[in-house]
Amino acid sequence: MKTELQNTPDDLTLDQIMQRFATDEDARAYWESIHWPNGAVCPHCKNNEAKSIWKIEANKKKKIREGLHQCGKCDKQFTSTIGTIFEDSHIPLRKWLIAFYLNSASKKGISSLQLQRTLGLGSYRTALFMQHRIRHSLKETGFDNKMTGTVECDETYVGGKVKRPFKGAKLPDNKIPVVSLLQRDGKVRSQVVKCVTIKNLKAVLRRNVEPSATIMTDNLFAYRRATSGYTSHQVVNHSIGEYARGLAHTNGVEGYFSLLKRGVVGTFHHVSEQHLPLYLAEFDHRHNFRNVSDGQRTVEALKKSVGKRLMYRQPK
Ligand SMILES: [Zn+2]
Repeated sequence: MKTELQNTPDDLTLDQIMQRFATDEDARAYWESIHWPNGAVCPHCKNNEAKSIWKIEANKKKKIREGLHQCGKCDKQFTSTIGTIFEDSHIPLRKWLIAFYLNSASKKGISSLQLQRTLGLGSYRTALFMQHRIRHSLKETGFDNKMTGTVECDETYVGGKVKRPFKGAKLPDNKIPVVSLLQRDGKVRSQVVKCVTIKNLKAVLRRNVEPSATIMTDNLFAYRRATSGYTSHQVVNHSIGEYARGLAHTNGVEGYFSLLKRGVVGTFHHVSEQHLPLYLAEFDHRHNFRNVSDGQRTVEALKKSVGKRLMYRQPK
């Protein structure tokens, strides 16, 4: 099974990635090893028996495309991209895999313009389309477990081009509120909220965090009521210059926010409210796999792309 990316060293370079996916056959073989770790599976009838699945030799003259398989059980044909974000894409799989790598390896993300240049894509819209599909695949479809232990919760405002005119001034309306939860020694989950209210904060916490947890927040008043029902709520009072009191701090989630903001400002310049959840999925993914190699982070991203087919209109 060719899944060497999983075992690549931390310093895997773009050049090595380009060589590894030099041809579409290489890229397809690699993708199949990620998508079908135990051999081909028919997406129509879920048949996974090697003895009743055959590979069909590609033949340009007969218009038989690469990677085609025949299922002996349901008698249908399939490829490894059916039901994934790559389905029906005319962008070579090779370029998709490199785009996944670039997305996973760049700390603050990669702009569509940069992606267009690096991959020699026909248009900016194609690059944007790829980026949105990648982000869509990184989006968690729902969590079957809630956070436990110590959970930091904080809110920030992202997007918009207008800065606060002076300290203490009202925030301009075009900033979008984001609430992030970070389990100490665990993962981060970020979401857009309509506005930061007791009700909304409470809903985010209830949905994601076990009542047995200890919640760490800053001194925003809304948290006092929003955290009722939790075992413990500890507050650091930023307004009097307090940033940590023993274990009581929100430094983890604030570190996450600073990277998110540098990404939004430095790389993406402007992010619309509609697309912000997708950017959050991207930043969450990188944060949650920050301690593994770029190659491994890419593999984890690719695994998430299964079952995420989405009809973004594809540029011609
Ligand atoms: Zn079948």
